[in-house]
Amino acid sequence: MNYQLALTESEKRLRDIELALNESSIVVITDNKGTIQFANDKFCKISKYSQKEIIGSKHNIINSGHHDLNFFKEMWRTISNGIVWRGEIKNKAKDGSYYWVHTTIVPYLAGKGEPYQYIAIRHDITKRKQYEEQIELMAYYDSLTSLPNRNLLNKWVMERPLKKEDIISVLFLDLDRFKSINDNFGHDTGDLVLKEVARRLRNCLRKSDFISRQGGDEFIIILDDMYSKQDSISVATKISNQLALPYRINNNNVITSTSIGISMGTIRDDSCICSDFIETLIKHADNAMYHAKKQGGNTHCFNTPYQNHQLERYYQIEQEIKKALGQEQLSIVYQPLINLNSTEVIGVEALLRWNNPRLGKVSPLEFIPLLEEFGLIIPVSKWILKTVCNQLRIWRNNGVLLEKIAINISPIQFRDHMFAEDLKQILEEAQIEPSFLELEITEGTLLNITESTRTLKELKNLGVRISIDDFGTGYSSLSYLKQLPIDSLKIDKSFIDELDVDGKIIVNTIVNMGRNLNFTIIAEGIEKKEQLQYLKGLDCHEGQGYYWSKPLPSEDIAGIYHNSVIYRPKILKIE
Ligand code: C2E
Ligand code: MG
Ligand code: MG
Repeated sequence: MNYQLALTESEKRLRDIELALNESSIVVITDNKGTIQFANDKFCKISKYSQKEIIGSKHNIINSGHHDLNFFKEMWRTISNGIVWRGEIKNKAKDGSYYWVHTTIVPYLAGKGEPYQYIAIRHDITKRKQYEEQIELMAYYDSLTSLPNRNLLNKWVMERPLKKEDIISVLFLDLDRFKSINDNFGHDTGDLVLKEVARRLRNCLRKSDFISRQGGDEFIIILDDMYSKQDSISVATKISNQLALPYRINNNNVITSTSIGISMGTIRDDSCICSDFIETLIKHADNAMYHAKKQGGNTHCFNTPYQNHQLERYYQIEQEIKKALGQEQLSIVYQPLINLNSTEVIGVEALLRWNNPRLGKVSPLEFIPLLEEFGLIIPVSKWILKTVCNQLRIWRNNGVLLEKIAINISPIQFRDHMFAEDLKQILEEAQIEPSFLELEITEGTLLNITESTRTLKELKNLGVRISIDDFGTGYSSLSYLKQLPIDSLKIDKSFIDELDVDGKIIVNTIVNMGRNLNFTIIAEGIEKKEQLQYLKGLDCHEGQGYYWSKPLPSEDIAGIYHNSVIYRPKILKIE
């Protein structure tokens, strides 16, 4: 380096120094081995070292341990090449407290090839950093338990480097009957239980395990380096045992247990995206937790390929069902109802069908609970009521004079305050006598006696008929039902299936008692001649089943009603 060049380099450095310096600057000069040669008063004040203590010491005396080796390597690489470095550093003072400084390090070449001095000019940014930390704490940590929250879990999942063959295990925890702790002891106690749960979780896990509170009484734990299923089960068992110990809170002994879902996986493929991989594991663990709950709680469950398949299907249905009504994928079929005495078709039951371009035909037993879960059952039910009433109008106009149409009513629809009002309007618009309609509800719908009695009365005032579907599978007694305005009982198919085994006693009792209490008795799921003959012998009023016909499109019902050649002979045959 020639003299002229060295001079301009020095001038540039001086300008850098001048630019960085102001009244509050903390200045330190070290030699090229990092030994402190000069420190101003501001440095002594913030670092709490005296001039005497600091001069001659190594600069790393103020390292906080916050930054990793790469951070310092990068800094040294820059300044030893004569380039100015700027950055934010957390340092440690003599008394162990920490402070943050914005730092400019100017290498001073003074004519030589390598720097022989470093001038560090710092400014205190501790307040700003504390503020930022505070904000981060609020955004990423749960204020009650101080555990990472859902946001931090998502961030962690997104940023976590994963190596091929890393084995990850996810535990999804949910406390059993936590709501009853809140209800019985109050929310303050509930909160203290959650805090204690978090403390116990921290105690029984390693530092490298990630614990987060998802909200409510749900926690997610991500374990690294679990080499076998047994390892994960041991951790889950340890957690269960710890969390099952009594909680002594506000002079109360509170007891709870935990349901834990476990899923495990390993990255086999380089193209696998870490966040997708862990998210899938979390979903699987959640699903497994749900199975643990279904077994009564206080246990752990591993996710199985079968559960994964169920989960996969659940998400597919969720995606598709939201479009079903708008895209005209729903339709209604009608299954004939036969008067067992006259052997005539006296009505039909309307049954919903869903044909989806991707999933094909999906059973109502599978998709109706999901319509309920996703809040879609009310609009779909209104559509069913309208379609069925219009269909009945068309049939009546064409001389298909059915006595009744049965429609299945979801408990959610039944509890909707607008239900009776909406139904009234739909009947009026289609000009249908309410008595043609028979609403099928299940015993479970009547669990809340006061509320359901009020709704039943409203519906009866409208003039529609009410029937109890799948009767015998719930817990209601005939004498209880007699106090309600109910017209018919539909005996569940499972009892008809067992007529040749031990279903006879139950069916005898239902038909005999039901008839005496003036209910119309309907048997569903009749498939065999013997079943029909037995029911006829009991004087059961009506029947429905594949013996006569599967559910059919509306066009075929008109055919059946008019064309006695196709239909009536079949009925006559069994007389
Ligand atoms: P459900 O109301 O008890 O309807 C009777 C079910 O038994 C129908 O199944 C019908 O096709 C079937 N079935 C009738 N006879 C026989 C037989 O002889 N053998 C056999 N194996 N099955 C027979 P589907 O249509 O699959 O409906 C299943 C359930 O889904 C219904 O049971 C009902 O609870 C619900 N569901 C169907 N449509 C609707 C609807 O529009 N709204 C509501 N809320 N629920 C519906
Ligand atoms: Mg039904
Ligand atoms: Mg039924």
